[in-house]
Amino acid sequence: MTAADDLTRIAQDATGWRRALHEQPELLYDLPKTSAFVAGKLRAFGVDEVATGIAGTGVVGLIRGAKGAGPVIGLRADMDALPMDEKTNLPYASKVPGMMHACGHDGHTATLLGAAQHLAATRDFAGTVALIFQPAEEGGAGARAMIEEGLLERFGIESVYAMHNQPGLPVGAFATRPGALLAGGDRFVVTVSGRGGHASAPTKSIDPVVAASHLIAACQTLVSRFSDPFDQVVVSITYLDAGSAGALNVIPDSAVFGGTIRTMNNETRKAIEAHLRRILKSGAEQFSCEAELDWRPGYPVTVNDPGKTALAVEAAQAVAGAAQVETACDRQMGSEDFSYMLEQRPGAMVWFGNGESAELHNPAYNFNDDAILPGMRYWVTLVARELGAAA
Ligand SMILES: [Zn+2]
Ligand SMILES: [Zn+2]
Repeated sequence: MTAADDLTRIAQDATGWRRALHEQPELLYDLPKTSAFVAGKLRAFGVDEVATGIAGTGVVGLIRGAKGAGPVIGLRADMDALPMDEKTNLPYASKVPGMMHACGHDGHTATLLGAAQHLAATRDFAGTVALIFQPAEEGGAGARAMIEEGLLERFGIESVYAMHNQPGLPVGAFATRPGALLAGGDRFVVTVSGRGGHASAPTKSIDPVVAASHLIAACQTLVSRFSDPFDQVVVSITYLDAGSAGALNVIPDSAVFGGTIRTMNNETRKAIEAHLRRILKSGAEQFSCEAELDWRPGYPVTVNDPGKTALAVEAAQAVAGAAQVETACDRQMGSEDFSYMLEQRPGAMVWFGNGESAELHNPAYNFNDDAILPGMRYWVTLVARELGAAA
């Protein structure tokens, strides 16, 4: 049997695994069935080591190459679903009300499992493949939790790779870019405190509404005056609350506003936060108010290492042909927690085509099973490129 035959056969099995996972979505860190399924498959494939219970339900499988010592490469798949009702009418639709695999993490998990089976059977490389199955990508920072539990040191992982499906990109096609691929997304809430009183006697009060209005306007300068025009930043104030429409003759004690900031550069991300703190402090002082910032950090910018991205592109081109690989795709303002792994180790994330489908996080979305085979081939080829095998 050739390697290509083997991958095709495994991809058929992996379609079954994908649908089984799709039927039983689980959320965040609470993935007992999913992680048991993954660990069971890895053991059945005969991988050298299966570590469970990392960040609760995270699983790592290790496959050592038959060609001797070499680097340790981490391949990551996310396993969690979303808290929403599925509207696909598929025969294998979610059996759990209020939970759905609407981001294709069922497909990512099945694809990496398929590659694992092939790699465990062939071992035609020098070094070690660490298969990382993480919980809680959807808002729970599962990647960070695994890192905090020592994931990278424990297994000696030197580089990290991830793949996410992309609706609208043809099945079998790939897209990526060096540098920032996805934005960092942070949120914040500001409480402006003054002193309330009768609206007819403003000098006896300290008006937080006027102060908040000036501060909101000043926040617009974070983009227009403090950011490099070639470095994309979004600042949106999305929340504002003060006083009461039933008490229009009352100056309230406080005013609250908040919003979100998206950045494409981790330096910019830190700089914007610092500018925001300065604007709030000095701005509030002008009005004799105090502004308290509740900074709620989200996922960092997802930054692809240029060298590892070149390697990922080579692997994708070997699988799909150069015409089917976008090497400088558009950045997206969404976020992804693989960014935490890329902060620690060089690596690259690529998009792989899901064909014409509903968008991610849409109740009609479904992962395209035809993407499993090209996805597996990408993983296997990437291992061959990074770990110096002949394959
Ligand atoms: Zn998602
Ligand atoms: Zn996702």
